[in-house]
Amino acid sequence: MTCTKCSGLMVKDHLLDMKESYLPMWMQALRCLTCGNIVDPLIHYHRTVQRARMATRLGTRLAQTAVRPVQAA
Ligand SMILES: [Zn+2]
Repeated sequence: MTCTKCSGLMVKDHLLDMKESYLPMWMQALRCLTCGNIVDPLIHYHRTVQRARMATRLGTRLAQTAVRPVQAA
């Protein structure tokens, strides 16, 4: 997998979540070796949902333009 910011190599990393959790919690995430961009499962989920919504909207727009009747001159 490549980084969405710099196209660098993403590797699995184990991160310690100290702020969001009541107890310190380890989580697995992807970290870019070049720029340090981190993608954890929650970030990945939100980006996937956002892409799906955009694809749905785009598909709807394409369908509307494809169905639009041609006006006679
Ligand atoms: Zn990067």
